[in-house]
Amino acid sequence: MADEDCLKKVHGYNGAQGIKACMTCSNLMRVARRARVPAGCKHISTPSLRGIRFNTNNDIWLMADDLTNRVDAGVTTKAVVKSRGLKYEPHGLLWNLALRDVHRPIDHYLRDWMHILVSGGRKPPSGLSRQSDEGT
Ligand SMILES: [Zn+2]
Repeated sequence: MADEDCLKKVHGYNGAQGIKACMTCSNLMRVARRARVPAGCKHISTPSLRGIRFNTNNDIWLMADDLTNRVDAGVTTKAVVKSRGLKYEPHGLLWNLALRDVHRPIDHYLRDWMHILVSGGRKPPSGLSRQSDEGT
């Protein structure tokens, strides 16, 4: 799978329009005002990858398990779902424990490069690459 909408739906991710625009980046936030970005996080408009932390497969599974525990305990999950970018989807890939030996949510999250590098016919902002960070 390399279709962003499909990946979003089978995993239960909120997607690019949510606060957590990307499940790979753990501390990249998409909020209207930069002042609302919590300490330790970066705004999605950042021109650099410096300081961005990345989720592991285990981080994603822990989030899914935590959501399950919260739902089972009858605790509201709305704020947690919003802040993590992950919805409770009991029939989603992340909640099928038998698939955890087969499907790894970060390792197997393949992006269609045309949706990233040339989305909408626009080139990415200058300096937005890992390579530019390594040279500074
Ligand atoms: Zn990301």
